[in-house]
Amino acid sequence: MRPKFVTHLPNNDELWETGNGIAHVIPGILPTDSPALKYALTVRRTADLLGRCECGGEIAATMRHGLVLKHEDDCPACDGNILPMAKRERHTRQANRGEQHADTH
Ligand SMILES: [Zn+2]
Repeated sequence: MRPKFVTHLPNNDELWETGNGIAHVIPGILPTDSPALKYALTVRRTADLLGRCECGGEIAATMRHGLVLKHEDDCPACDGNILPMAKRERHTRQANRGEQHADTH
């Protein structure tokens, strides 16, 4: 089943639905993100929607967070890589939320 885009969330994340009726919140990509972060986010989004990642990670059930996709430590999409990078690049722009424009470049 093809994943279907539902809506943007206020924090720029996106809500998607897969064919089995499961909703996924996946990280949005900002025009101002660096190429490295955009790549990491792209890998993450693809992995979230497919349920598996090119690093070999697959969806697994956890008690605390429900279904979670565990990435290899050296995967660009793993939390240990993507979260610090996103925080570093974006924390100075938090105040400007809501002023994002589509990037035409
Ligand atoms: Zn991965």
